[in-house]
Amino acid sequence: MSVKLFALTCGRLTGDLGRLMEGGEGRADLPIPAYLIEHPRGTVLFDTGLHPDCQHDPTGRVGTRLTSLFSFHYRPGEEISARLEAIDRDPAKINIIVNSHFHFDHVGGNALIPNATMVVQKREWEAGMDPEIAASHGYNRADFDLGHKLIQIDGEHDLFGDASVVCLPTYGHTPGHQSLRVRLPSGDVVLAADACYFCRTLRERRLPQRVYDRQAMLSSLDKLANLEAAGARIFFGHDGEFWSGVPQAPAAIT
Ligand SMILES: [Zn+2]
Repeated sequence: MSVKLFALTCGRLTGDLGRLMEGGEGRADLPIPAYLIEHPRGTVLFDTGLHPDCQHDPTGRVGTRLTSLFSFHYRPGEEISARLEAIDRDPAKINIIVNSHFHFDHVGGNALIPNATMVVQKREWEAGMDPEIAASHGYNRADFDLGHKLIQIDGEHDLFGDASVVCLPTYGHTPGHQSLRVRLPSGDVVLAADACYFCRTLRERRLPQRVYDRQAMLSSLDKLANLEAAGARIFFGHDGEFWSGVPQAPAAIT
C-alpha cells in the first residue's frame, strides 16, 4: 500500500537570519510548510501553519514580541483549509493532525481542521498545559487546546502500524518536538520541521539563538544526519531555497 505526500505552503514570514542560525546575516525568507499525507487507512496533516487571524491582524493574534521579530506575508486563501479545498480535499475529513510542536506557525491552522485526532508528544502537551512553561515558549493555548481528540505519545510512534508514517522524537527546539518519517515508493522522506530550520543547520550545526535544550537539539541533528546517511531525504523546516525546489500540491512529492 503506497502513501502519497503533498506540500502545502501556508504563507511566509521574514526574519533576521542571525536569530535563527548562528553566524547568519541579513533577512531570511521563511516559508510556512504544512504537509498532507494520504494513506489507504487515513489522511494526516503534519502541521497546520498560521492562524487565519494572522492575515489581517498578526499582532492581535500572536502579540508584539513575535510581530517585532517577524514580518507576516500571509493572504486569504493561504490558510490550511483553503489549501486543502483548492486540491479538492475536505478539511472536515482529515483524520489525524500530527503537530511537530506548539509554536504559532505550526498549530495555528488546527482550528480549521475540526474532526481530526491530534497526535503530539506527551512532553509537548504537558509544556503547553503549564501556564508558566507555555508562556516562556510563546505558546498560545487557543491554538491547540480546542477539544480535538488527543493522542499523547512518548517517543517513536507508528501511525498505521506498517512503518509507512512514523513520528520521530526530535526534542530540543521545544520540550516535545517531533519530526515525521514518510515511506514513499522512492524511499524515506523525513519532515524535520523545526528540529532543523535550514540545510545549513544540519550541515554546519548552526543552531538558532534560542532553543529549549541545546544538547538535545544537537542529538536530534545527529539523528537526522544518520537517517540521511541511510538514504532518507530530509525536508528542512523553514529553508526558502530548499522549499523553492519542493513541488507543491496538487503535485505529489515523489
Ligand atoms: Zn517554525
